[in-house]
Amino acid sequence: MKLHEYQARDLLAANGVAVTSGRVARTAAEAGKVAGELGGKVVVKAQIHAGGRGKGRLVEASETAAMYEKLTSDPANNAGQVKGDRVGGVRLADTVAEAEAAAGAILGKHLVSIQTGPEGKLVKTVLVAEQTDIVKEYYLSVLVDGSVNGHLFIASAEGGQEIEHVAATNPDAIARVAVNSASGWEGYVGRTLAQRLGFTGDQAAQFATLAEALYKTACATDASLVEINPLALTADGRVVAVDAKLTIDDNALYRHKDLADLRDKDEEDPLEVMAQEMGVSNFIKLDGNIGCIVNGAGLAMATMDAIKFAGGEPANFLDIGTVNDPQRVVSALQVIIKDPSVKAILVNIFGGMARVDIIAQGVIDGFKQLGIEVPVVMRLVGTNLAEGEQLLAASGIPAIRATDFGDAAAKAVEAANRAA
Ligand code: GDP
Ligand code: MN
Repeated sequence: MKLHEYQARDLLAANGVAVTSGRVARTAAEAGKVAGELGGKVVVKAQIHAGGRGKGRLVEASETAAMYEKLTSDPANNAGQVKGDRVGGVRLADTVAEAEAAAGAILGKHLVSIQTGPEGKLVKTVLVAEQTDIVKEYYLSVLVDGSVNGHLFIASAEGGQEIEHVAATNPDAIARVAVNSASGWEGYVGRTLAQRLGFTGDQAAQFATLAEALYKTACATDASLVEINPLALTADGRVVAVDAKLTIDDNALYRHKDLADLRDKDEEDPLEVMAQEMGVSNFIKLDGNIGCIVNGAGLAMATMDAIKFAGGEPANFLDIGTVNDPQRVVSALQVIIKDPSVKAILVNIFGGMARVDIIAQGVIDGFKQLGIEVPVVMRLVGTNLAEGEQLLAASGIPAIRATDFGDAAAKAVEAANRAA
């Protein structure tokens, strides 16, 4: 689950990370009020679940695709803008009136950046924060990394730009320091990072305190990623987080009931939200036109490979798990047919603990309850296959039967092409 910057910085501040003062606003007038409280010199920032806001552009809903094409087709279009100026989704304002105008220009528009995708993101809130006089921008993040069996810090003195870009052009400028999971935080982590970034004296101490607090935040919230870009050194000698990104591991949300309220469903894929609400948990929307219902994540991956190999594109990843209730299959079908890009459905089931007859019954019920109009290809093997076959034969539903992986994928691709 991704958080908005304003939500992330509250969590960071609560755990002792130095952030600029600021508050969220939903109208231009409210933004002006916050700016007044902060003394007028502020930065007004669009709150969306995507980065690259500073270099993004605000447009009407009808113009997002063209703008995205413009930003992504030629890097010059995305690089030409001065950072933090008065054009993109992050705007500096020197007076209350300017802050109000900036918020007015941002709210209600769609922000398109190289990270938003062609739909852009509707901006519903802005963060109004104290404007910092930045001397230098750094990059600092902590993430859960399997290769070190724990938390890994990634830091760079080349902040304010995408870390992927630094990694590609100047990999030596990136420091990686792991935290030992058994011992937890140890002072050398902060000192090593501070040294690699070139901090000395009081600033090195400030940095180390901030890095420790960042680690504490990551642990306390079960974050898979906490990213500060930029971490700023200010003219008055402070080391402070100017941007914040925090992603919470969905599998840990059950123990963070208070954080679950921070979810902004408007920012998530509507089909994925629907799937979650219907209890179809392992659903990821993809860009193709073949809907997939599969049991087991490995089988789901293999099925997507088979579809690609047959020249098609999967419309989703859906691991239905071990099903013992036909209605779960109906729910999965319901989510899949809600996607207008789906032109065929492939049901690929290996009956182990899941029984083939239950899944067959689910597909039959789906045809009866949902009025499925796209072709459905079924490849079934395993437990209670004979019972499943009987149910399907008796039902008379127009499922296309396939014998193995390759056959199933080829038939699904053919069916989707015919319908498209
Ligand atoms: P992002 O583009 O979505 O990553 O948004 P950021 O919050 O990182 O802002 C983009 C850039 O705006 C930063 O890299 C800074 O250069 C600039 N910026 C943001 N806040 C301030 C500020 O308070 N003062 C100054 N001078 N620049 C800022
Ligand atoms: Mn940033």
